[in-house]
Amino acid sequence: MKKIYLAKAKSQIARHNTIRDINKQIVLNYVRVRSPISRAEIARETSLQRSTVSAIVDELQSEGLIEELGTGDSTGGRKPTLLQLRTGVPVAIGVDVTPRVTTVVLADLSGTLLDTERFPTSSDIEYMNKQILEKVGHFVEMYPNANLEVGISIPGIADPTTGTIVYIPYFQWSNWDIGKQIEEKFGVPVTIDNDANAVAIAELWFGDEEIKKTRNFVMILVSEGIGTGIIVDGEVYRGEFGAAGEFGHMYVGENAPVVCSCGRRDCWEAHASEKAILQRYASAEGQPTNANIDIDHLIGLAMNGESRAVQTLRESAHYLGIGISNLIVGFSPQAIVISGSIVRAWDVLKEELNILAGRSIRDELPSPAIVRSSLGDDPTVLGSIALVLASKFASAS
Ligand SMILES: [Zn+2]
Repeated sequence: MKKIYLAKAKSQIARHNTIRDINKQIVLNYVRVRSPISRAEIARETSLQRSTVSAIVDELQSEGLIEELGTGDSTGGRKPTLLQLRTGVPVAIGVDVTPRVTTVVLADLSGTLLDTERFPTSSDIEYMNKQILEKVGHFVEMYPNANLEVGISIPGIADPTTGTIVYIPYFQWSNWDIGKQIEEKFGVPVTIDNDANAVAIAELWFGDEEIKKTRNFVMILVSEGIGTGIIVDGEVYRGEFGAAGEFGHMYVGENAPVVCSCGRRDCWEAHASEKAILQRYASAEGQPTNANIDIDHLIGLAMNGESRAVQTLRESAHYLGIGISNLIVGFSPQAIVISGSIVRAWDVLKEELNILAGRSIRDELPSPAIVRSSLGDDPTVLGSIALVLASKFASAS
Protein backbone atom coordinates (compact mmCIF):
# COMPACT_ATOMS: atom_id res chain seq x y z
CA MET A 1 0.00 0.00 0.00
CA LYS A 2 1.36 3.41 -0.92
CA LYS A 3 1.42 6.17 1.66
CA ILE A 4 -0.45 9.25 0.51
CA TYR A 5 1.61 12.39 0.99
CA LEU A 6 -0.81 15.29 1.06
CA ALA A 7 1.49 17.83 -0.58
CA LYS A 8 2.12 15.49 -3.50
CA ALA A 9 -1.52 14.35 -3.76
CA LYS A 10 -2.65 17.95 -4.24
CA SER A 11 -0.36 18.54 -7.21
CA GLN A 12 -1.32 15.21 -8.77
CA ILE A 13 -5.02 15.91 -8.56
CA ALA A 14 -4.46 19.29 -10.12
CA ARG A 15 -2.42 17.86 -12.97
CA HIS A 16 -4.38 14.82 -14.10
CA ASN A 17 -5.96 11.85 -12.39
CA THR A 18 -9.57 12.40 -13.25
CA ILE A 19 -11.34 9.06 -13.65
CA ARG A 20 -11.91 10.00 -17.27
CA ASP A 21 -8.15 10.38 -17.86
CA ILE A 22 -7.43 7.01 -16.28
CA ASN A 23 -10.12 5.35 -18.41
CA LYS A 24 -8.73 7.05 -21.49
CA GLN A 25 -5.30 5.58 -20.87
CA ILE A 26 -6.78 2.14 -20.23
CA VAL A 27 -8.61 2.28 -23.59
CA LEU A 28 -5.44 3.48 -25.36
CA ASN A 29 -3.50 0.58 -23.83
CA TYR A 30 -6.12 -1.93 -24.97
CA VAL A 31 -5.74 -0.63 -28.50
CA ARG A 32 -1.94 -0.73 -28.21
CA VAL A 33 -1.66 -4.27 -26.85
CA ARG A 34 -4.74 -5.99 -28.33
CA SER A 35 -5.03 -4.26 -31.70
CA PRO A 36 -7.02 -4.81 -33.88
CA ILE A 37 -9.84 -4.52 -31.36
CA SER A 38 -13.42 -3.21 -31.56
CA ARG A 39 -15.20 -0.74 -29.26
CA ALA A 40 -17.51 -3.54 -28.12
CA GLU A 41 -14.61 -5.80 -27.15
CA ILE A 42 -12.98 -2.99 -25.15
CA ALA A 43 -16.28 -2.33 -23.37
CA ARG A 44 -16.73 -6.01 -22.58
CA GLU A 45 -13.20 -6.50 -21.27
CA THR A 46 -12.98 -3.29 -19.25
CA SER A 47 -16.60 -3.33 -18.01
CA LEU A 48 -16.82 0.32 -19.08
CA GLN A 49 -20.12 1.49 -20.55
CA ARG A 50 -20.24 1.14 -24.33
CA SER A 51 -21.09 4.86 -24.65
CA THR A 52 -18.10 5.78 -22.46
CA VAL A 53 -15.76 3.72 -24.64
CA SER A 54 -17.16 5.33 -27.81
CA ALA A 55 -16.69 8.83 -26.43
CA ILE A 56 -13.11 8.05 -25.39
CA VAL A 57 -12.35 6.47 -28.78
CA ASP A 58 -13.66 9.64 -30.50
CA GLU A 59 -11.35 11.72 -28.35
CA LEU A 60 -8.30 9.49 -29.03
CA GLN A 61 -9.10 9.61 -32.75
CA SER A 62 -9.34 13.38 -32.79
CA GLU A 63 -5.99 13.57 -30.97
CA GLY A 64 -4.54 11.43 -33.76
CA LEU A 65 -3.52 8.56 -31.46
CA ILE A 66 -5.72 5.77 -32.84
CA GLU A 67 -7.47 5.05 -36.14
CA GLU A 68 -10.10 2.77 -37.63
CA LEU A 69 -8.70 -0.17 -39.51
CA GLY A 70 -11.76 -1.73 -41.18
CA THR A 71 -14.43 -4.16 -40.10
CA GLY A 72 -13.98 -7.42 -38.20
CA ASP A 73 -16.00 -10.61 -37.98
CA SER A 74 -19.53 -10.18 -36.72
CA THR A 75 -21.02 -12.30 -33.98
CA GLY A 76 -24.45 -11.44 -35.42
CA GLY A 77 -25.69 -8.06 -36.55
CA ARG A 78 -23.53 -5.24 -37.91
CA LYS A 79 -19.81 -5.96 -38.33
CA PRO A 80 -17.72 -4.10 -35.72
CA THR A 81 -15.17 -1.46 -36.76
CA LEU A 82 -11.67 -2.39 -35.61
CA LEU A 83 -9.23 0.05 -34.04
CA GLN A 84 -5.45 0.27 -34.04
CA LEU A 85 -2.73 2.72 -32.99
CA ARG A 86 -2.19 5.38 -35.60
CA THR A 87 1.25 4.80 -37.10
CA GLY A 88 3.32 6.67 -39.65
CA VAL A 89 2.36 10.00 -38.08
CA PRO A 90 4.97 11.83 -35.98
CA VAL A 91 4.19 12.23 -32.25
CA ALA A 92 7.62 12.24 -30.61
CA ILE A 93 10.93 14.00 -31.16
CA GLY A 94 13.79 12.17 -29.44
CA VAL A 95 17.10 13.87 -28.64
CA ASP A 96 19.84 11.44 -27.64
CA VAL A 97 23.07 13.04 -26.42
CA THR A 98 26.01 10.64 -26.02
CA PRO A 99 29.69 11.53 -25.57
CA ARG A 100 30.40 10.76 -29.23
CA VAL A 101 27.23 11.33 -31.27
CA THR A 102 24.01 13.28 -30.82
CA THR A 103 20.91 11.98 -32.60
CA VAL A 104 17.62 13.81 -33.14
CA VAL A 105 14.79 11.59 -34.38
CA LEU A 106 11.13 11.81 -35.25
CA ALA A 107 8.98 8.81 -34.26
CA ASP A 108 5.39 7.62 -34.41
CA LEU A 109 3.30 6.14 -31.61
CA SER A 110 4.65 2.61 -32.15
CA GLY A 111 8.25 3.83 -31.72
CA THR A 112 9.08 3.53 -35.42
CA LEU A 113 11.62 6.15 -36.53
CA LEU A 114 10.34 8.37 -39.36
CA ASP A 115 13.36 10.67 -39.70
CA THR A 116 16.88 10.79 -38.22
CA GLU A 117 19.55 13.48 -37.96
CA ARG A 118 22.97 12.85 -36.46
CA PHE A 119 25.97 15.02 -35.67
CA PRO A 120 29.18 14.53 -33.67
CA THR A 121 28.77 15.68 -30.07
CA SER A 122 30.98 18.69 -29.35
CA SER A 123 32.36 19.73 -25.97
CA ASP A 124 31.24 23.29 -26.80
CA ILE A 125 27.92 23.61 -24.97
CA GLU A 126 26.84 26.73 -26.89
CA TYR A 127 27.31 24.94 -30.19
CA MET A 128 25.37 21.93 -28.86
CA ASN A 129 22.57 24.16 -27.61
CA LYS A 130 22.28 25.82 -31.02
CA GLN A 131 22.41 22.52 -32.94
CA ILE A 132 19.71 20.88 -30.83
CA LEU A 133 17.39 23.92 -31.04
CA GLU A 134 17.89 23.98 -34.81
CA LYS A 135 17.19 20.26 -35.38
CA VAL A 136 14.19 20.15 -33.04
CA GLY A 137 12.88 23.36 -34.63
CA HIS A 138 13.24 21.82 -38.07
CA PHE A 139 10.97 18.87 -37.13
CA VAL A 140 8.45 21.10 -35.32
CA GLU A 141 8.18 23.36 -38.36
CA MET A 142 7.84 20.40 -40.75
CA TYR A 143 4.74 19.24 -38.87
CA PRO A 144 2.96 22.35 -37.58
CA ASN A 145 -0.30 20.46 -36.91
CA ALA A 146 1.22 17.47 -35.13
CA ASN A 147 0.88 17.08 -31.36
CA LEU A 148 4.62 16.73 -30.87
CA GLU A 149 6.41 16.19 -27.58
CA VAL A 150 10.16 16.02 -26.98
CA GLY A 151 12.16 13.47 -24.97
CA ILE A 152 15.84 14.11 -24.19
CA SER A 153 18.22 11.38 -23.01
CA ILE A 154 21.52 12.53 -21.51
CA PRO A 155 24.57 10.77 -20.03
CA GLY A 156 24.20 12.55 -16.70
CA ILE A 157 21.78 13.71 -14.04
CA ALA A 158 18.52 15.48 -14.91
CA ASP A 159 16.13 16.83 -12.31
CA PRO A 160 12.67 15.59 -13.37
CA THR A 161 10.88 18.22 -11.28
CA THR A 162 12.53 21.17 -13.03
CA GLY A 163 13.44 19.54 -16.36
CA THR A 164 16.97 20.92 -16.02
CA ILE A 165 20.12 18.99 -16.84
CA VAL A 166 21.94 19.13 -13.52
CA TYR A 167 25.28 17.67 -14.57
CA ILE A 168 26.91 15.78 -17.45
CA PRO A 169 30.24 14.51 -16.04
CA TYR A 170 31.83 13.63 -19.39
CA PHE A 171 31.76 17.27 -20.52
CA GLN A 172 31.43 18.82 -17.04
CA TRP A 173 28.34 20.72 -18.16
CA SER A 174 26.07 21.83 -15.35
CA ASN A 175 22.66 23.50 -15.06
CA TRP A 176 21.85 23.35 -18.77
CA ASP A 177 18.24 24.47 -19.33
CA ILE A 178 17.84 23.18 -22.91
CA GLY A 179 14.42 21.70 -22.03
CA LYS A 180 13.04 25.05 -20.92
CA GLN A 181 14.46 26.72 -24.03
CA ILE A 182 12.74 24.19 -26.33
CA GLU A 183 9.43 24.58 -24.47
CA GLU A 184 9.56 28.37 -24.65
CA LYS A 185 10.72 28.60 -28.25
CA PHE A 186 8.48 25.95 -29.84
CA GLY A 187 5.64 25.52 -27.33
CA VAL A 188 6.09 21.74 -27.07
CA PRO A 189 6.35 19.77 -23.80
CA VAL A 190 9.79 18.34 -22.96
CA THR A 191 10.83 15.41 -20.75
CA ILE A 192 14.52 14.99 -19.87
CA ASP A 193 16.03 11.97 -18.19
CA ASN A 194 19.27 10.15 -17.60
CA ASP A 195 20.15 7.76 -20.46
CA ALA A 196 19.99 4.63 -18.31
CA ASN A 197 16.56 5.61 -16.97
CA ALA A 198 15.38 6.32 -20.52
CA VAL A 199 16.60 2.91 -21.74
CA ALA A 200 14.97 1.20 -18.73
CA ILE A 201 11.66 2.87 -19.67
CA ALA A 202 12.14 1.77 -23.29
CA GLU A 203 12.70 -1.81 -22.07
CA LEU A 204 9.53 -1.64 -20.00
CA TRP A 205 7.37 -0.45 -22.91
CA PHE A 206 9.12 -1.59 -26.09
CA GLY A 207 11.45 -4.40 -25.05
CA ASP A 208 11.20 -8.14 -25.11
CA GLU A 209 7.82 -9.59 -24.03
CA GLU A 210 9.33 -11.13 -20.88
CA ILE A 211 10.81 -7.82 -19.72
CA LYS A 212 7.60 -5.90 -20.46
CA LYS A 213 5.89 -8.17 -17.93
CA THR A 214 8.61 -7.63 -15.30
CA ARG A 215 7.74 -5.15 -12.56
CA ASN A 216 11.11 -5.05 -10.79
CA PHE A 217 14.35 -5.01 -12.74
CA VAL A 218 17.63 -3.15 -13.03
CA MET A 219 18.85 -2.10 -16.48
CA ILE A 220 22.62 -1.69 -16.79
CA LEU A 221 23.82 0.51 -19.65
CA VAL A 222 27.45 -0.19 -20.51
CA SER A 223 28.88 2.59 -22.69
CA GLU A 224 31.63 5.19 -22.11
CA GLY A 225 30.59 4.85 -18.48
CA ILE A 226 28.14 2.59 -16.65
CA GLY A 227 24.64 3.76 -15.76
CA THR A 228 21.75 1.92 -14.17
CA GLY A 229 18.00 2.43 -14.48
CA ILE A 230 16.08 0.97 -11.55
CA ILE A 231 12.50 -0.12 -12.24
CA VAL A 232 10.49 -0.61 -9.06
CA ASP A 233 6.90 -1.77 -9.45
CA GLY A 234 6.83 -0.69 -13.11
CA GLU A 235 8.24 2.78 -12.47
CA VAL A 236 11.71 4.34 -12.53
CA TYR A 237 13.14 4.96 -9.08
CA ARG A 238 14.87 8.35 -9.39
CA GLY A 239 15.74 9.31 -5.83
CA GLU A 240 16.16 12.89 -4.64
CA PHE A 241 17.21 15.31 -7.43
CA GLY A 242 16.96 12.43 -9.94
CA ALA A 243 20.38 11.27 -8.79
CA ALA A 244 19.63 7.59 -7.97
CA GLY A 245 21.25 4.75 -9.87
CA GLU A 246 24.81 6.11 -9.97
CA PHE A 247 26.19 2.64 -9.29
CA GLY A 248 28.90 3.26 -11.89
CA HIS A 249 30.73 4.92 -9.00
CA MET A 250 30.36 2.16 -6.41
CA TYR A 251 33.59 0.73 -5.07
CA VAL A 252 34.56 -2.48 -6.86
CA GLY A 253 38.31 -2.74 -6.30
CA GLU A 254 41.66 -0.94 -6.60
CA ASN A 255 43.81 -0.53 -9.71
CA ALA A 256 41.18 -0.40 -12.43
CA PRO A 257 42.46 -0.19 -16.04
CA VAL A 258 41.28 3.44 -16.43
CA VAL A 259 40.47 6.46 -14.31
CA CYS A 260 36.72 6.89 -13.75
CA SER A 261 34.90 9.99 -15.03
CA CYS A 262 34.77 11.04 -11.34
CA GLY A 263 38.56 10.88 -11.07
CA ARG A 264 38.87 7.71 -8.95
CA ARG A 265 40.37 4.41 -9.99
CA ASP A 266 38.27 2.02 -7.95
CA CYS A 267 34.74 2.56 -9.38
CA TRP A 268 32.69 -0.07 -11.23
CA GLU A 269 32.86 2.14 -14.33
CA ALA A 270 36.67 2.17 -14.22
CA HIS A 271 36.63 -1.66 -14.27
CA ALA A 272 33.81 -2.58 -16.64
CA SER A 273 32.85 0.31 -18.99
CA GLU A 274 33.76 0.28 -22.70
CA LYS A 275 36.71 2.51 -21.86
CA ALA A 276 37.96 -0.02 -19.30
CA ILE A 277 37.44 -2.95 -21.69
CA LEU A 278 39.43 -1.23 -24.45
CA GLN A 279 42.28 -0.33 -22.11
CA ARG A 280 42.37 -3.91 -20.81
CA TYR A 281 42.78 -5.12 -24.39
CA ALA A 282 45.46 -2.54 -25.18
CA SER A 283 47.43 -3.52 -22.04
CA ALA A 284 47.20 -7.21 -22.97
CA GLU A 285 48.74 -6.26 -26.32
CA GLY A 286 51.48 -4.29 -24.57
CA GLN A 287 50.10 -0.93 -25.78
CA PRO A 288 50.06 2.04 -23.39
CA THR A 289 46.72 3.44 -24.69
CA ASN A 290 43.56 2.15 -26.31
CA ALA A 291 43.63 4.71 -29.14
CA ASN A 292 43.91 2.13 -31.93
CA ILE A 293 40.72 0.19 -31.37
CA ASP A 294 37.03 0.86 -30.74
CA ILE A 295 34.46 -1.35 -29.04
CA ASP A 296 32.82 -2.56 -32.26
CA HIS A 297 36.21 -3.67 -33.61
CA LEU A 298 37.04 -5.48 -30.35
CA ILE A 299 33.68 -7.28 -30.34
CA GLY A 300 34.26 -8.30 -33.96
CA LEU A 301 37.65 -9.78 -33.04
CA ALA A 302 36.13 -11.69 -30.12
CA MET A 303 33.32 -13.04 -32.29
CA ASN A 304 35.99 -14.31 -34.69
CA GLY A 305 37.64 -16.10 -31.81
CA GLU A 306 40.74 -13.90 -31.40
CA SER A 307 41.92 -15.20 -28.04
CA ARG A 308 43.12 -11.92 -26.52
CA ALA A 309 39.81 -10.22 -27.35
CA VAL A 310 37.84 -13.15 -25.92
CA GLN A 311 39.96 -13.13 -22.77
CA THR A 312 39.52 -9.34 -22.41
CA LEU A 313 35.73 -9.62 -22.64
CA ARG A 314 35.62 -12.53 -20.15
CA GLU A 315 37.75 -10.62 -17.67
CA SER A 316 35.56 -7.54 -18.13
CA ALA A 317 32.44 -9.69 -17.64
CA HIS A 318 33.93 -10.75 -14.31
CA TYR A 319 34.03 -7.10 -13.14
CA LEU A 320 30.61 -6.37 -14.62
CA GLY A 321 29.40 -9.43 -12.72
CA ILE A 322 30.80 -8.18 -9.39
CA GLY A 323 28.63 -5.07 -9.68
CA ILE A 324 25.62 -7.12 -10.76
CA SER A 325 26.06 -9.42 -7.77
CA ASN A 326 25.94 -6.35 -5.49
CA LEU A 327 22.80 -5.02 -7.19
CA ILE A 328 21.06 -8.39 -6.80
CA VAL A 329 21.83 -8.48 -3.09
CA GLY A 330 20.52 -4.92 -2.69
CA PHE A 331 17.39 -4.97 -4.88
CA SER A 332 16.35 -8.62 -5.25
CA PRO A 333 15.10 -7.85 -8.79
CA GLN A 334 13.23 -10.29 -11.04
CA ALA A 335 15.75 -9.58 -13.79
CA ILE A 336 18.94 -7.74 -14.68
CA VAL A 337 18.94 -6.36 -18.23
CA ILE A 338 22.25 -5.43 -19.85
CA SER A 339 22.33 -2.92 -22.68
CA GLY A 340 25.06 -1.42 -24.87
CA SER A 341 27.31 -2.58 -27.72
CA ILE A 342 28.89 -5.36 -25.64
CA VAL A 343 25.68 -7.42 -25.62
CA ARG A 344 26.52 -8.41 -29.19
CA ALA A 345 29.23 -10.59 -27.62
CA TRP A 346 26.68 -12.17 -25.27
CA ASP A 347 27.90 -15.71 -25.84
CA VAL A 348 31.34 -14.70 -24.58
CA LEU A 349 30.00 -12.79 -21.54
CA LYS A 350 27.06 -14.76 -20.21
CA GLU A 351 28.83 -17.60 -18.42
CA GLU A 352 31.01 -15.31 -16.32
CA LEU A 353 28.05 -13.00 -15.58
CA ASN A 354 25.94 -15.90 -14.35
CA ILE A 355 28.75 -17.26 -12.16
CA LEU A 356 29.10 -13.89 -10.42
CA ALA A 357 25.33 -13.34 -10.23
CA GLY A 358 24.98 -16.70 -8.51
CA ARG A 359 27.51 -15.69 -5.89
CA SER A 360 25.50 -14.20 -3.06
CA ILE A 361 24.24 -14.92 0.41
CA ARG A 362 20.82 -15.65 -1.11
CA ASP A 363 21.37 -19.39 -1.15
CA GLU A 364 17.72 -20.22 -0.60
CA LEU A 365 16.43 -17.80 -3.27
CA PRO A 366 16.33 -18.31 -7.03
CA SER A 367 18.75 -16.13 -9.04
CA PRO A 368 17.17 -13.39 -11.14
CA ALA A 369 17.39 -13.75 -14.92
CA ILE A 370 20.43 -12.03 -16.45
CA VAL A 371 19.37 -11.01 -19.95
CA ARG A 372 20.61 -8.84 -22.78
CA SER A 373 18.58 -5.90 -24.04
CA SER A 374 16.37 -6.51 -27.05
CA LEU A 375 16.33 -2.84 -28.09
CA GLY A 376 18.95 -3.16 -30.83
CA ASP A 377 22.04 -1.10 -31.58
CA ASP A 378 20.78 2.33 -30.49
CA PRO A 379 19.11 1.77 -27.12
CA THR A 380 19.51 5.40 -26.02
CA VAL A 381 17.80 6.71 -29.18
CA LEU A 382 14.83 4.48 -28.41
CA GLY A 383 15.16 5.66 -24.79
CA SER A 384 14.73 9.30 -25.82
CA ILE A 385 11.45 8.62 -27.64
CA ALA A 386 10.28 6.21 -24.92
CA LEU A 387 10.32 9.21 -22.55
CA VAL A 388 7.50 10.70 -24.65
CA LEU A 389 5.63 7.56 -25.68
CA ALA A 390 5.63 5.90 -22.26
CA SER A 391 3.94 8.94 -20.71
CA LYS A 392 1.15 8.63 -23.28
CA PHE A 393 0.52 5.01 -22.26
CA ALA A 394 1.35 5.19 -18.55
CA SER A 395 -1.45 5.01 -16.04
CA ALA A 396 -2.04 8.18 -14.07
CA SER A 397 -1.41 6.72 -10.65
ZN1 LIG B 1 33.60 7.03 -10.39
